[in-house]
Order: sequence, then structure tokens, then C-alpha cells
Amino acid sequence: MSSLELHAESDPAGRANLLGFDRAALENWVGARGARAFHARQILGWIHRRGIADFDRMTDLALGLRAMLLEAADCVCPPAVGRAVDADGTEKWLFQVDACNAVETVIIPDEDRRTLCVSSQAGCVLNCAFCATGAQGFSRNLTSAEIVGQLWRIWHDPDGSKSDRPIQNVVFMGMGEPLANYHALSPVLRLLLDDLAYGFSKWRVTVSTAGLVPLIDRLSTEHDVALAVSLHAADDALRDRLVPINRAHPLAELLAACRRYVARHPEREILIEYVMLDGVNDQLADARALARLLRAIPAKVNLIPFNPFPGTAFATSPESRILAFQKILIGQGLRTLIRKPRGQSIQAACGQLAGSVANRLPEQFRFASPRACA
Ligand code: SAH
Repeated sequence: MSSLELHAESDPAGRANLLGFDRAALENWVGARGARAFHARQILGWIHRRGIADFDRMTDLALGLRAMLLEAADCVCPPAVGRAVDADGTEKWLFQVDACNAVETVIIPDEDRRTLCVSSQAGCVLNCAFCATGAQGFSRNLTSAEIVGQLWRIWHDPDGSKSDRPIQNVVFMGMGEPLANYHALSPVLRLLLDDLAYGFSKWRVTVSTAGLVPLIDRLSTEHDVALAVSLHAADDALRDRLVPINRAHPLAELLAACRRYVARHPEREILIEYVMLDGVNDQLADARALARLLRAIPAKVNLIPFNPFPGTAFATSPESRILAFQKILIGQGLRTLIRKPRGQSIQAACGQLAGSVANRLPEQFRFASPRACA
């Protein structure tokens, strides 16, 4: 086993970190150690529904089973090492995932619900021109335990809301590209939708991607979650510069994947994310081109005013231009919302999450995004 796999599945003593195991994996794991499937379901409930990580406190498990768990497993969540709250109620948590890396998680409160924005990688290789995470480089994929741990810790926070469901929506829009870490993402999606764990409705879990086409297809066959696509440009020349993964999977391919996604989930629509960059992609002609592009796709558009971060050369489109852009899309029959910037004063808005990442990526392996395009 490579050191990376070891990290992903177990601690240095070889114990399995059960926090990241979905129901089937847990059933297999306990089954291989002489326990029954219903024991796995009990353990799942203790960990995720009750927030208990200490096997000694799982009092309805037989003593022999508890002894086996203490010997062969643990249940470890990365420590939360920082917490900041914006005046608008947005809350940012910092999780230390190892000595060199920390990732950020954001709670976005709305009138009657709280959305959790979860990170999937320490850094990101995609290097989208307008994103703070991309500018930092990439260290590593998070493990399933490190991804679901962000929710687990906040869900069971003793200072948090005492309601039965402290979080109503989960969006994979934090640091990283979730589909580039599909292997770890998959068990987490199953835990989110599992009634014995978090029991989220399939309408309340959203995976956002910059456009990893083969993995969009895989997601559509293996899971039933909402899909958000970070489009940001309606022609390949511009998208190549803003979202460099477009060079590998250009717009025609990406939109075909969106159509296949909806064909497999006919009741769904794709959420199209479009960041508004002053003078770059926000002209009325861009809006018309976007409307044409989306004609054959059940889609809802979210216009995201660009959130600046230190060192960026981009600026946010003026409000009047965003409104004019929206008006054209609506005129073409596209449901279009403008995303309210949230948590800006604590750098917790879309694209501002940077955590603390030890970049291990040699420059030549990053998708080059010409900074000149601003
Ligand atoms: N990698 C995934 C999810 C992470 S980013 C993806 O690309 O979809 C979540 C959303 O925030 C994406 O739509 C992303 O393009 C957008 N975003 C990134 N940087 C931004 C910024 N500085 N201002 C506004 N939105 C930004």
C-alpha cells in the first residue's frame, strides 16, 4: 500500500478511520471481522446521528465488538483550529487536516436554513484564473473522513444550533474540485443521503464542478445529487483562459454531458454558475451567447458577482451591468438569480477560500492560466 492510500484509509498504527466509511463499506469491514451487518448500522448511527466517536460509549454494542473496534479502528475528525463570523451571519471554520494543510468550511445561514459549503481538496490543480484556491496550488486530496468530518464536527457542535437538523443543504463548493477526488467524494455522498447517517434529501446536496466530463457521467450513473457547473464563459476562447480545464473538455463536450445528466435524472435541472468579471465576460453579447448555449438544457443560472482576493487582477462587474445581463437571460426564458455575496469580510465568499495549503505541484503540472487575461 502506498503512503497516500495508507493516509486515506487508516492511521499510522493501521487503524481504519470509520468516520469516512459509508454503510456498505462498514458492513464489509465489520463482516470481515466476524460481526454482522446490523452492527455496522448501529455503529453508523452512533457516529453520524449521535456524534459519538468513542467506541466505549457505544453502549449497545457487545463488549467483544467494542474491544475489536478499539484495537482495529478509530473515528477521527480533523481538529477545527479557527472560526470566524461575518456580520451577515456567515461563519467560516478552519480544519487542520495535517501538519502542512488546513481547509475551510463555510456555514451560510438564510432565513430558514443553513447551507454548508464543504472543501474536497487541500488546494486545487484546475487553476481557474479568478479563484483564490487555484492561485494557491495543490497539496493533496482530502480523505472521505476529512470531507465528511467537516459536516460531522459542525453538525454535532455543542455550541451550535440545537435543532434536529443543524444544516439543511450541503454544497461541494469549497476548496478543490470535488470530481477530481471522486474516490473520496463517493462514500461521503452516500453518507449524506443515508437515513441512518444524515438523511439529506437528494434535492439538498449539490456537487459543483468546473467541468470534468467523464466524471460528470460517472456521477450521473452512481449518484442522484444536484449538479452545478461552473461555466463562466459562453465561448471556448474565453473559457480556455478563465477555466483552463476547458482545453481538455471544451464547451460542446461539457454541455453534452449536462444533457446526458438531465436525461438520466429527468426531474433535475443543471445549476449554471457564472462569475461576473468586469469587462471580461459581462457584456450583453456574452449574455445572448450564454442564452443560446443553454437553449436545449434545463438550466437555472446563478450569476456570481466576483469576490476579490489579495493579488487578483479581476474586478467585480458593476451592479447595473449584472442586472442588464440578468434581464437578457430572463428575456430568453432562463431562470436567473444573482448570488448575494456572503461572508466577504472574513474571506468566506465563493472563490475566496484559501485555507493554508503547502503547494506540492510543480508549475509545469498545473493547468496554466494566463494571468494576462485580466
Ligand atoms: N471546483 C468546483 C467547486 C469550487 S468553487 C467548481 O469549479 O465548481 C465554487 C464556485 O465559486 C465555482 O462556480 C467557482 O467558479 C466560483 N468562484 C471561484 N472563485 C470565485 C471568485 N473569486 N468570485 C466568485 N466566484 C468564484
